[in-house]
Amino acid sequence: MKFELERITRNYISTLTPYSSARDEFSGTASIFLDANENPYGSVTSEKYNRYPDPYQQDLKVKIGEIKKISPTQIFLGNGSDEAIDLLFRIFCEPHQDNIIITPPTYGMYRVSAETNCTEIREAPLSPENFQLRPDEILKEVDKNTKIIFLCSPNNPTGNSLQTLDIQKIIENFSGIVIVDEAYIDFSASPTWISELKNYPNLVVLQTFSKAWGLAGLRLGMAFASEAIIQLLNKIKLPYNISQIVQETVLENLSEFKKQTMVNQVLKERKSLHSKLENLDFVQKIYESDANFLLIKVDEAQKIYDQLVTQQIIVRNRSKVILCEDCLRITVGTETENQVLVETLRNF
Ligand SMILES: *Cc1c(COP(=O)(O)O)cnc(C)c1O
Repeated sequence: MKFELERITRNYISTLTPYSSARDEFSGTASIFLDANENPYGSVTSEKYNRYPDPYQQDLKVKIGEIKKISPTQIFLGNGSDEAIDLLFRIFCEPHQDNIIITPPTYGMYRVSAETNCTEIREAPLSPENFQLRPDEILKEVDKNTKIIFLCSPNNPTGNSLQTLDIQKIIENFSGIVIVDEAYIDFSASPTWISELKNYPNLVVLQTFSKAWGLAGLRLGMAFASEAIIQLLNKIKLPYNISQIVQETVLENLSEFKKQTMVNQVLKERKSLHSKLENLDFVQKIYESDANFLLIKVDEAQKIYDQLVTQQIIVRNRSKVILCEDCLRITVGTETENQVLVETLRNF
């Protein structure tokens, strides 16, 4: 399938003159900066934050590029990967005209972003047997206004990784954008699609610092794509979308060792939680997970959810979601948290 970025990009983008910030117009070294209406005396905080941050987060992208083995020019950083999702809608989806395809049960933000961008949502559900893609069903939904197909692997809320050949078939047979959301990739043994970007100009890979890196509160998400797509994202993003404090904190703490140590703990706990939940008689099924959560099918999910709430334990009730009837999604907690959860469930 021939992919032409210009053809699928909304018309307004090419004529748009992006906001030009003080930092865009002068980025060399100087000693007196009187160009951005900043406070020359410093900040009310003890740390100084009176200067606007780097709008393109160059230092951080160089470091992330080394870790992810990709050029900094193929990286976009957003206020969570949710920002990248929203910007991709604004680049490709003409409101009230274009459509996207999602594969429920899946991450809820694709739908919310589609709705806020007035974009029709087409659904091609995962297979009920194993939550895998049905590529032919997905491709059947495609028409000339289909701009994006969202794939989430490992998938939220089911936890499984999607099969490589299915993803490949969709990327190769669709002339719009395929987004592979890898928010949970660090917990999985599957390889990332980042290394395939050189083969597929229509591929966008999303990752995040919110899960394995333990930085959900900082808000930092990554999109990896062709340089051309990254340029479009840069063109329409807000000028200073990543704060100074986030850029500095993440740059100073990009320790893969520390992340991996936590991931290993989560994986160990996932296994242990899995075997403990199996012994409860109201648990019908525990789905295999490549992520940091378990989806479990129980007798009367709502009742169990409500009872857990009374014990101040909150899990995610997914029982209203297609193919997830009577399912709860449980994030793997610390050893102690999981023990309390299991004890509480045993007492029901
Ligand atoms: C948690 C999650 C994200 C991350 O969103 P952020 O905005 O980066 O915190 C993205 N995709 C999926 C599927 C998720 O579950």
